[in-house]
Amino acid sequence: MRQPNIPVQTPAKRVKNFHEVELGFSKRQAMEEARRCPQCTNPKCVAGCPLGVDIPGFIRSIREGDFLRALQKVRENNNLAGFCGRLCSAPCEQACILNEEKNVQAIGIRALERFAFDHGQSKVRQIFNAESTNQTNKKVAVVGSGPAGLVVAAQLAEDGHAVTVFETFEKSGGFLNYGVPEFRLPKKVLDNEIDYVKSLGVEIKNLSFIGRTHSIEELFSSGYNAIVLTTGAGIPKPCGLSRQEASGVYFAQEFLMRVNFAGGHLILRPAEPFALGEKVVVLGCGELAVDSARVAVRFGKNVMVVHSSTEEDMKVSQEQKQQAKEEGVRFEILAEPVELCVDEQNHVKGIKCLRLDFADAGEKGEWKLIPVKDSEFIIEADTVILAGESKVNSYIAKLTQGLKVDSQERFYRKKDQAQTSAKNIFAAGAAALGPANFIEVLSDSKNVSNQIDLFLRRDGE
Ligand SMILES: Cc1cc2nc3c(=O)[nH]c(=O)nc-3n(C[C@H](O)[C@H](O)[C@H](O)COP(=O)(O)OP(=O)(O)OC[C@H]3O[C@@H](n4cnc5c(N)ncnc54)[C@H](O)[C@@H]3O)c2cc1C
Ligand code: SF4
Repeated sequence: MRQPNIPVQTPAKRVKNFHEVELGFSKRQAMEEARRCPQCTNPKCVAGCPLGVDIPGFIRSIREGDFLRALQKVRENNNLAGFCGRLCSAPCEQACILNEEKNVQAIGIRALERFAFDHGQSKVRQIFNAESTNQTNKKVAVVGSGPAGLVVAAQLAEDGHAVTVFETFEKSGGFLNYGVPEFRLPKKVLDNEIDYVKSLGVEIKNLSFIGRTHSIEELFSSGYNAIVLTTGAGIPKPCGLSRQEASGVYFAQEFLMRVNFAGGHLILRPAEPFALGEKVVVLGCGELAVDSARVAVRFGKNVMVVHSSTEEDMKVSQEQKQQAKEEGVRFEILAEPVELCVDEQNHVKGIKCLRLDFADAGEKGEWKLIPVKDSEFIIEADTVILAGESKVNSYIAKLTQGLKVDSQERFYRKKDQAQTSAKNIFAAGAAALGPANFIEVLSDSKNVSNQIDLFLRRDGE
């Protein structure tokens, strides 16, 4: 038996809007899928979920038609259910026991989690409207309101500490707000989750750039017992190609940020809020690249993603790739960009690439990719979006005595420890791990919160 197909907007319709592509299980589909769950007594899926969500428990509640209870069950271990039900890479499904049977697919756990959020949500505020209760008399400042900051804040507030989140931008949510496009994570879901975190007693101060508007020393002087750095890894790294400063070349982070801040409705305007050519080429092979391509398609552009890996090695989910293709995004694989070509006005006009091919790399059948001799070719482009690597936002380290970063500019932490090299300063999420997927960030943030709670109860002076 297979998972039910999640209803989606048709490609022809969705390329003309920014509304969510996947519409989620219907009630009937969710109940049927929930009934398929074998309700194992020793569930491998729970061991496979880095947050330890009680998967059989919440699925049982869906089966019984109690969607609010289902959401509460998820929330016991996962404060950001609305995000996970949409973006999590769902390692729980890989662990599902049904994978061991022939022609049987794992339970659609992620889609059921989304269902629990979407259908249990309307009543949530009445249930989870905890007043701010600072039972421990300890204050925590969290720097950054991405998923890491939100999880740390929610969990420490639940533990009884007073938590304030400081965020540079006007809106909270980090990459989930200004990176992930609305058609994969609607702003109303984002706002709901942020409201939920606030309802636990967390205060969020936007337009607060720590290091500029307040220093770390000022935060300590104003009575915070611990500071947690969750500043993410959103700084674009130069891609190494010459002429990347030419006009018509954008970093993907900047491109997505401009679209997200302007809002999806800008698609209805006669012109984009930035110059976008007709032939858009995106260089990269991860979520950043595919999301950028899918946004550009929605502006009616001819879009190609160029990358040097094989299709299997792309760092995006199968559904993302499939949906992008259905929307008209083309993929040029095994092509290594070597140079950006520009016209007399220094505007980009193409990318010179080399074709890659497989070559033996040892006696054990290993292989590597090498450029094919004389294989140079040019891909025409009037806009190039650089969606390569990004690095940690560790600006604060330059301004704070004793706060060290490692060779990759991540905040330094001792192995398995939440504390940085500076007293009472902790780090979590991508700021400590480097670019990572969402579930890794949440799991790290949960561990860090547990350690901070112990620290505050023990001696957090
Ligand atoms: C386009 C895109 C799509 C993605 N899609 C997926 C996906 O489908 N699945 C998945 O698993 N992962 C996905 N990811 C990865 C995911 O978004 C990250 O793992 C996650 O956002 C990292 O969370 P974080 O809280 O550590 O950092 P961030 O989300 O980067 O948040 C950091 C926050 O800190 C703030 N900040 C930084 N410095 C300061 C300062 N000095 N003072 C105050 N505030 C500050 C920033 O403004 C930001 O809001 C995607 C990433 C991108 C870019
Ligand atoms: S958080 Fe991710 S891994 Fe855990 S149950 Fe939800 S979808 Fe599965």
